[in-house]
Amino acid sequence: MTHAPAGIDRRACAALDAADPLASFRSRFDLPEGVVYLDGNSLGALPRDTPAFVQHVMREEWGVGLIRSWNDAGWFAKPTDLGDRLAPIIGAAPGETVIAESTSTSLFQAAAAAARLRPKRRVIVAERGNFPTDLYMLESVQELMGGGTALERRLIADDGPTLADVLDEDVAVVVLTHVDYRTGRMHDMAEVTRQVHEAGAVVVWDLCHSVGAVPVDLNAAGADLAVGCTYKYLNGGPGSPSFIWVAERHQAAVRPPLTGWHGHAKPFDFTVDYAPAPGITRFRIGTPQLLSAAGLEASLRMWAEVDMARIRKKSLALTDLFIDLVDTRLADRFGAEVVTPREHHRRGSQVSLRVDGGYPIMQALIERGVIGDFRAPDLIRFGFTPLYTSFTDVWDAVVRLEDILTTGVWREAHFERRGEVT
Ligand SMILES: *Cc1c(COP(=O)(O)O)cnc(C)c1O
Repeated sequence: MTHAPAGIDRRACAALDAADPLASFRSRFDLPEGVVYLDGNSLGALPRDTPAFVQHVMREEWGVGLIRSWNDAGWFAKPTDLGDRLAPIIGAAPGETVIAESTSTSLFQAAAAAARLRPKRRVIVAERGNFPTDLYMLESVQELMGGGTALERRLIADDGPTLADVLDEDVAVVVLTHVDYRTGRMHDMAEVTRQVHEAGAVVVWDLCHSVGAVPVDLNAAGADLAVGCTYKYLNGGPGSPSFIWVAERHQAAVRPPLTGWHGHAKPFDFTVDYAPAPGITRFRIGTPQLLSAAGLEASLRMWAEVDMARIRKKSLALTDLFIDLVDTRLADRFGAEVVTPREHHRRGSQVSLRVDGGYPIMQALIERGVIGDFRAPDLIRFGFTPLYTSFTDVWDAVVRLEDILTTGVWREAHFERRGEVT
């Protein structure tokens, strides 16, 4: 593990920024002056080129092109075109990825399709600590794919039971989130995939907190199916579409449960019966959300210039620095505990702290211009997005947090008030 040098100060952070090969990307984002934005793991910042691109789609493609744009502006092929643009970021080959609806729907599509690949097996394995929508969607998969009696669910957790504890010849599908949304803990994708395959099951990876955050190589890991969202580290914008990836070797056999006309082999024949399109296209459902897709397209054009190895190197340096500063300045005095794994190979691109008063502390911090978030029951979360987060940002965030804890300003009653979204 590399450590930030002891006694680092703001000036040393500025020197790290000056030597940062990704530093120029910060000017490609429209961030408000004075804000330290450490919530790009929930909603990525706005790329400067996005508004003009979205406006072009609205004014020219929609306003002028009208219905002709389905052909002339490539609207019909947009989901697979954008899937192919996204592919290099997740280690996918062309023709393996499609842009879809929300992550929740995509998780349902992928998990049910995966369960159908193992029709004689009756167990789905998931994680107790996963983002709840994944578990909620799996409840429906269990009920609908069970043929009368619901499939059994087995839950694993970081503190047990382990995957080895629950895997046997009854398991059809294992659904795992690569990087945990609460703690930032990362699974070893290749090793876990190998373990799942050894038991004869298939694995669905949720990449919501991985895509654009850490290097992902689905094909090198031998993975089966994956889903993820594009409004977090990829900066596609609020509500930008999710994606589904299916390994080429499964594409002929795989049957998604939602069979809409855009996934049909010949949608414009308007036939009575469903016939799946070849390849990943069968995972399409209906008319794609093209205006949301425009935000994603603008962002992916920028991502085409990004080297994920550089992202990872800087992400680890930023999170190491943050962890070191918390350890040296906040741990003993205020009992702030880093719950994110310290080993690099187990860490995504966020750091979570357990601290008494987490919710009002985060509200006080946001009022001071450092935006992170709170996850029940007791964690404050900081996402580090190497394209637009600087080492000086990390310094400023910890110093402002230290000040809030020292003065106790966070105990003021109004910081307890909760909005609908925390
Ligand atoms: C962010 C996130 C989601 C979001 O689902 P939506 O349908 O896009 O709201 C789902 N799963 C995980 C693991 C996430 O981190």
